[in-house]
Amino acid sequence: DISSFYSALSIRKVFRPQNADGKQSRIADYFASNVFDLRAMVKRLSAQDLETMTKVMKYGGKIDASLAERVASAAREWAMEKGATHYCHWFQPQTGATAEKHDAFLWFDKQGNPIERFTGPELLQSEPDASSFPSGGIRSTFEARGYTGWDPSSPMFIMETENGKTLYIPSVFISYHGEALDFKTPLLRSNGSLSVEATKTLHLIGEKKVTHVTTSVGPEQEFFIIDKKHAMKRLDLHLSGRTVFGRKPSKGQELEDHYFGHIPSRVQSFFNELEVELYKLGVPVKTRHNEVAPGQFEIAPIYEGSNIAADHNQLALKCIKSVALKNGFVALLHEKPFAGVNGSGKHVNWSMSDSLGRNLLDPGATPHENLVFLTFLCGILQGINDNADVLRASIASAGNDHRLGANEAPPAIISAFLGNTLDKILNAIESGSADKVNAEKIMIDLGVSHVQEVAKDNTDRNRTSPFAFTGNKFEFRAVGSSAPINYPTAILNAAVHDGLTKINKKLEEKAVNGVVSDNDLLLILREVIIQTKKIRFEGNGYSQEWRDEAAQRGLSNYSKTPDALMVLADKEKTKFLKNAGVFNTEDILSRLAIQQERYIKQCLIEVNCAIEMAQTLVLPVCIEFHSKLMKNAKLSSEISCSSPSKKMAERFGDDISHVWSTLEALKIQVEKITSGDALDHHHLEKTSKIISEVLMLKLEDLRSAVDTVEAFVPNDLWPYPKYSDMIFGI
Ligand code: ADP
Ligand code: MG
Repeated sequence: DISSFYSALSIRKVFRPQNADGKQSRIADYFASNVFDLRAMVKRLSAQDLETMTKVMKYGGKIDASLAERVASAAREWAMEKGATHYCHWFQPQTGATAEKHDAFLWFDKQGNPIERFTGPELLQSEPDASSFPSGGIRSTFEARGYTGWDPSSPMFIMETENGKTLYIPSVFISYHGEALDFKTPLLRSNGSLSVEATKTLHLIGEKKVTHVTTSVGPEQEFFIIDKKHAMKRLDLHLSGRTVFGRKPSKGQELEDHYFGHIPSRVQSFFNELEVELYKLGVPVKTRHNEVAPGQFEIAPIYEGSNIAADHNQLALKCIKSVALKNGFVALLHEKPFAGVNGSGKHVNWSMSDSLGRNLLDPGATPHENLVFLTFLCGILQGINDNADVLRASIASAGNDHRLGANEAPPAIISAFLGNTLDKILNAIESGSADKVNAEKIMIDLGVSHVQEVAKDNTDRNRTSPFAFTGNKFEFRAVGSSAPINYPTAILNAAVHDGLTKINKKLEEKAVNGVVSDNDLLLILREVIIQTKKIRFEGNGYSQEWRDEAAQRGLSNYSKTPDALMVLADKEKTKFLKNAGVFNTEDILSRLAIQQERYIKQCLIEVNCAIEMAQTLVLPVCIEFHSKLMKNAKLSSEISCSSPSKKMAERFGDDISHVWSTLEALKIQVEKITSGDALDHHHLEKTSKIISEVLMLKLEDLRSAVDTVEAFVPNDLWPYPKYSDMIFGI
């Protein structure tokens, strides 16, 4: 409704933090002010403790009990100075959300006086009752012991709300036997093994000074915001995160006038508040802009170590939601809240750096440096080529199914885009002489000794590739907007670990005194380039030609989650995850079960919302309007006055009947699926497939029937906000 759109423009005034003199503070003054980082530790820990902490925060590692005791005490003092009363282990069970259980610092001394206390063991470990978290059958309820353990590589922080402050301790969540129950543990494990394998590669090609390799991530986060008053009237948005009904408005995104447009002032005030909150938490958000669809926006941080980036992305998601509410909005993090306009994704920009501070995906200035770059590029290609199906599974979700392959997001076919220059270079290496090479000369001939060549090519972006090289990083574009990024990043790390392991084996065979000559290296890379050619694609990923060609090349194309997930049951294909120490067999099978279950439940929630809305809102309103039409038709026939009422009543009656019959068909199908033991563990595969192949199509039938009647019912009678209200009403 257009009038309330204008009247709703009351803007919450948010001031940036101010100094004592009343002037606005610089971001640098309050950045990370709520983070117990090295700057905060300096004042409270000895030089030696600080050194250990610095190392652990950078490369991971163990912390002994006595250091934990000192860190706990320092963290408590710092947190209490800032007004915190509680602490909590903050972890990421496989629900997609974060979890926390708060404990007060309260204790009693020997005399029984109340004191504040926070001990080393309390910092190191906690035991929440884990029986209500998804475990995919790993544990039965009676042995549901889960442990959260401090992850010292991600700094503690204070979360402020209007009602108090709590010290948050980033934590892993594992079972009694050490199985990972969360999304963070796999990432930490994959980072550890990738570091070992990549360092080995570097040593074998003569880079002996390197001691560690780390991964960096910068996630670009897309989301929608809509006015709270509209969101509150939509049961589907409220419960399932997406609209199951809604007729496409007369205007969508076709004029392309929203993308990078002026940020509406209400949204600007939301961004201001969001940024201040995130800055205090040490999240380095840098970019904000309007996205393609009306009502859609993006924020992106400066990239960081992948584990911290993943935690920070979770904080960003949390703050986007809470700050939106404070500003009269509801933020929609779902991958496809609205049909007919673009959905939301998360481009996970990913790179590897060594302990000397070099980005290994940055083409260098000399032929040898470029060989280092090409070695890692080949390791990545090998990893993606050999493990594409599991990478696809790592981004599978009910929400992402609406987005992947919908001509707005990458297809579900995993391929890699390198850009014209790099593609040419790899092709030239491939077609070069196989037996006799002069690596230095070839490098110079190929023109790769000029960094700028590849960097310049970075401008030639291919938006349709799920995995694109963009100058000095890869961009994993198929990740869903609501997904925790540590999981797909862990799988990607493990895939690259696998690629590098295979290359290292070949390098070791050729090594003399532990080092491979540039010429031999180039020959090995040539083999990899030939082997992985099928995964490289430079063209339009949205086109039917690509789907056909991909099928010819033998690439998989799992468009729906239930099919995509089944690779996790294939021991041969998931072997690389075990080799990288990320999961054991039981872990993998439990993840399969958890994801199947999530898919089933998510779809059933959507379907049940649709049924409820159709039954309690759409049909009653339609029937009421229809009876008006019929009365009117009767009246006009009595006075023999020509009127469209009769024709409208006939046509509309048919349309309502169609809503009724599609609704009945949907209900019968739901009944079939949920009765009996369809949701039993043994039937998850079958049930999830019936849902994607039958139930979701019946939901689409109902949607199309409901969207048809929406066009006939007068606006003031229609029972919930329309698309035009929501996506343009901010
Ligand atoms: P785009 O034009 O696609 O928005 P940007 O250059 O703005 O690309 O980068 C997007 C994200 O990539 C940002 O979060 C940025 O910090 C991150 N990024 C940049 N360089 C790297 C890198 N070497 N490794 C990982 N992420 C990076
Ligand atoms: Mg980008």
